[in-house]
Amino acid sequence: MPIKENLNHIQSSIPKHVTLVAVSKTKPITDIMEAYHAGQRIFGENKIQEMVEKHEAMPKDIEWHMIGHVQKNKVKHMASFVSLIHGVDHFKLLKEINKQAKKQERTIDCLLQIKIANEASKFGMTKIDALEIIQSEAFSKLENLRVTGLMGMATFTDNEQQIEQEFRYLKNTFNELESFKTLNFNPKIISMGMSGDYPLAIDCGSTMIRVGSSIFGERHYSE
Ligand SMILES: *Cc1c(COP(=O)(O)O)cnc(C)c1O
Repeated sequence: MPIKENLNHIQSSIPKHVTLVAVSKTKPITDIMEAYHAGQRIFGENKIQEMVEKHEAMPKDIEWHMIGHVQKNKVKHMASFVSLIHGVDHFKLLKEINKQAKKQERTIDCLLQIKIANEASKFGMTKIDALEIIQSEAFSKLENLRVTGLMGMATFTDNEQQIEQEFRYLKNTFNELESFKTLNFNPKIISMGMSGDYPLAIDCGSTMIRVGSSIFGERHYSE
């Protein structure tokens, strides 16, 4: 199915309170423009360099979300325009994001990535790590960033029950952390769910889904 139909199908099947991030990694600008012309304005990339190039080439009313693992030394390349960084998994990265945001005279929104999968390969912090960060004095001094929620990636498995458990764990973690609201911790977003599992993620409380292949088709990696 063409991109526009895929998008319309997904948009019409998800509740209004759920935001769709169209994951455009590896996809050419012509494909992304097709989604843009169908009304999509939020795109997710997992490599900073690729996102920078697409941002430069494309309309400026697009919101670019960094959904991949972020290397500290690359934050500066996206600090002028990125609208949400999903995968923040340690405090030093928050410090760097704050520093680069300050240089740009911006406030950058971030999500803390919580490790919900039982796979060694998935990044993320524990609930305790997250609690420690948001309650720390050092965090309260990061005036150029705002943590607006949590992000998680379920285990890559066919076992729906396991995926559901992991999503519910993220939702429960969100509920617990919600009561610790501060000036720069204002949780509203639960980013969970991809092409294979977003309906389940929404049932479990997701407010933001990251969908790639169901919109743009399978990805072909050249590397
Ligand atoms: C690639 C990616 C997605 C989208 O995956 P699909 O299965 O193509 O929908 C979502 N989240 C993250 C973090 C990704 O890297």
